[in-house]
Amino acid sequence: MFINGQWSDALNGETYPVTNPANGQVVDTVPSASREDVDVAVKAAQASLPGWAETSPDDRASLIRKGLQRVDEQADEIAELLTAEQGKPVFEAQGELHHFLHGMEFYAGLASKLRGAQVPLPPALGKHAYGLVLKRPVGVSVGIVPWNFPLTLMGTKVGPALIAGNPIIIKPARTTPLATLKIIGLLNEAGLPPGVLQCLTGAGNAVGESLILHPAVRRVALTGSTQTGRRVMQLAGTDFKRITLELGGSDPCIICPDANLKRAVSGVVVGRYWNAGQQCLAIKRLYVFEEVYDAFLQGLVEKVGNYRVGDGTTRPDKPFIRMGPLHTAQQREEVEGQLGDAVEKGAKVLVGGKRPDDPASPDGHYFEPAVVVDVPEDSRLATEEVFGPVLPIWKVKTLDEAIAKANRSLWGLGSSIWTQNISWANRALREIDAGVTWVNQIHYGYDELPFGGVKASGLGQEHGPEAVEYYVERKGAVFGGLDWE
Ligand code: NAD
Repeated sequence: MFINGQWSDALNGETYPVTNPANGQVVDTVPSASREDVDVAVKAAQASLPGWAETSPDDRASLIRKGLQRVDEQADEIAELLTAEQGKPVFEAQGELHHFLHGMEFYAGLASKLRGAQVPLPPALGKHAYGLVLKRPVGVSVGIVPWNFPLTLMGTKVGPALIAGNPIIIKPARTTPLATLKIIGLLNEAGLPPGVLQCLTGAGNAVGESLILHPAVRRVALTGSTQTGRRVMQLAGTDFKRITLELGGSDPCIICPDANLKRAVSGVVVGRYWNAGQQCLAIKRLYVFEEVYDAFLQGLVEKVGNYRVGDGTTRPDKPFIRMGPLHTAQQREEVEGQLGDAVEKGAKVLVGGKRPDDPASPDGHYFEPAVVVDVPEDSRLATEEVFGPVLPIWKVKTLDEAIAKANRSLWGLGSSIWTQNISWANRALREIDAGVTWVNQIHYGYDELPFGGVKASGLGQEHGPEAVEYYVERKGAVFGGLDWE
């Protein structure tokens, strides 16, 4: 782990193995933090706070940039490590690392541009008084990260926390700590003061909960499931800790009769099957207008049928692998259970939906991407978050029907519409209950735009300059006038 400026074992010596989802082999062994380790790290963070808060924004940015350069120099090695622990193909891991670097650079650029406000005040209590809105660091922060995008989702917490003057402790998912540790080590080597950026490894219900409950922690950022979000909110609520919760989703996508079908098919394929469908922002429910239903499905099924599933550590001399294994055996069983339930209730699988006959390794969690139609509204595919490469599709007749169905969900994270009709696009932007709506675009979380969910998809936002607001406490200040008698 990385605690107070150095690599550390757990104080009680406990460790656990990290395994490769492609073949079940152990990639490395990491410490399993105890409550005592949490206490050491939080105290180190607390000690670093005054100094980091006083560090000039330019110096903060320059230290972050020096660290990013080191990360960039080792990009290939880090991407391979991410593939080995997470399962995504190397080219997707490289894409994720690039996204991490871009997001962190975005925040380094913002460091010197954070502003408060000066506010005119009524003269009743003295002329020439004015108000200020000061922004102060919120304090010791904790970032709890899931396994699907370990690096980008670490960056969306580290970047805004550090530039706003806060120390932050990262708790990666139990199964994906390796590339994260590597990056946190490199960022520290660039000269961050001890305690400013730390990493503790271990289970969420042990390390994560101890961090949240530690009295000196003031801010918790979770990206994870809706169930974990409820738990984190309860724990943090007792002491009114500041939280943001980026949780699950079941993004709808609407394909209109006038959509550019070729582009829409490509957009939906990336939107559903990237990262083996294990994305919060994946298209998890597809509504296609009846006029283009057959043509769209034909294009989609052909493309999905050509997907190659295999070990993500592809080299140029091996066949190109488009989709790696699912992250864990449990994850694959969950998706199989959801699909099986829909099929039992009458759904039809048009392509995929089973374990490959010739898996790259019998111990890999491989699963063929699936397209499913005639899906009953009460099936698990329709009502639960499907965190894997299975796409349920429904035929719709009108935009009213499509939007009503899109909104018939517990979640409200992303959403999209494919149409050339500006009025229809406008209706989707205004009427779909979601944190983001893309028009004729794939589901992608831009660093430049605020991003967060409504309903059971969470609370608060990451990305964009807006994310920094969740790492400061705004303080009202009044500067009295000079006309007291
Ligand atoms: P998860 O909730 O199981 O775990 C997420 C993180 O929380 C892990 O680090 C885990 O160790 C920790 N954790 C688990 N229980 C905890 C507890 N009681 N207290 C503190 N920490 C705890 O989620 P996952 O399976 O790793 O990730 C998949 C989920 O994350 C999906 O629901 C997905 O939609 C969601 N997700 C959301 C976003 C977003 O931005 N909204 C992005 C990616 C993933």
